[in-house]
Amino acid sequence: MLEIKGLGARYGEATALDEVSLHVDEGEVVTLVGRNGAGKTTLLRCAMGLRRDMTGRVALAGRDITAAPPHRRARLGLGYVPDDRGIYAGLSVEENLTLPPAAPRSAWPLTRIYEAFPVLAARRRFPGGKLSGGEQQMLALARVLRAGARVLLCDEPTEGLAPVIVQQIGEILRGAKEHGVSVLLVEQNLRFASTVADRHYLLAQGRVVESLDNTEVRRREGELLAYLGL
Ligand code: ATP
Repeated sequence: MLEIKGLGARYGEATALDEVSLHVDEGEVVTLVGRNGAGKTTLLRCAMGLRRDMTGRVALAGRDITAAPPHRRARLGLGYVPDDRGIYAGLSVEENLTLPPAAPRSAWPLTRIYEAFPVLAARRRFPGGKLSGGEQQMLALARVLRAGARVLLCDEPTEGLAPVIVQQIGEILRGAKEHGVSVLLVEQNLRFASTVADRHYLLAQGRVVESLDNTEVRRREGELLAYLGL
């Protein structure tokens, strides 16, 4: 569904990504784990088209989108949930939700969004800036789903959130997966990662150094946590 080949990106002289290749199949949840500065956020930004100076190729559902700008990628089914969540503080929950144009036959019309995210229904007139961190994360996920995303690029959605909210986010991602949505998830919470994801890539200094399944992540949890500095 999403295929990244030979991705490279630099900040001045420093290499942020070096020949990164990975793929996420339809309905698959795949995590990207790595230490701070490993290049995870840069990779998601490249996939979304937010860095024009990258090298390599990006394809979505078999179609090369390397030259497509972000709004076109969004229309083709790519949804980016940045680590700061990108909520408009002064707009209401409903305005935040309906700002991006919905795909003509979005599987997630507003009624369905409100069923899946009751907290957003209850707060639909609230300003986005007044929501809790967990509610903002829900809103950011709901917004890209409503816009018709078939592949989600999520940057640390559980960071700083209470365990009960982390669990709810897991349920939402699993629900999206059941409807065929694919997810590339930056995630440092390995235990959470191994409950929602099918596979994992370990990124170090801008390179994919290992590809792991859930059994390996669970077996090597202590070693991986120590490596990640957690
Ligand atoms: P974190 O979890 O800390 O966000 P990350 O794995 O997402 O880490 P990136 O943010 O993609 O990593 O950063 C990759 C590398 O690029 C790091 O060495 C970082 O210091 C560097 N970098 C990121 N943004 C910039 C920038 N705007 N200018 C210069 N260097 C940057």
